[in-house]
Amino acid sequence: MPKLPVRKGDRVQVIAGKDKGKKGKILFALPDESRVVVEGIAMVKRHARPTQKVPQGGIQEREAPIHVSNVMLLCPICGRPTRVGHRITESGKKIRVCRKCKGDIDKE
Ligand SMILES: [Zn+2]
Repeated sequence: MPKLPVRKGDRVQVIAGKDKGKKGKILFALPDESRVVVEGIAMVKRHARPTQKVPQGGIQEREAPIHVSNVMLLCPICGRPTRVGHRITESGKKIRVCRKCKGDIDKE
């Protein structure tokens, strides 16, 4: 499975498309399609049939998956949109690092 530089729970900034400049949290990552679903980004109206979960059915707004190349990770340390680097920790684990502040994005 191809690995994405971002994963569920990361905060990202949209860098292309109609939601350019917006920020949000990743709700789902779809590594097979290189897409992510970001909270509040790429809202589309869905005409849903009534289901047990949503008995009223009707029109709902939902996030559509967007390509991972349209987002940049927001560094949790310096807060800036950044590309993702990697480093191997002393215990041999590969973690992501911010290319801007060189801080560790993942905990060991
Ligand atoms: Zn940083």
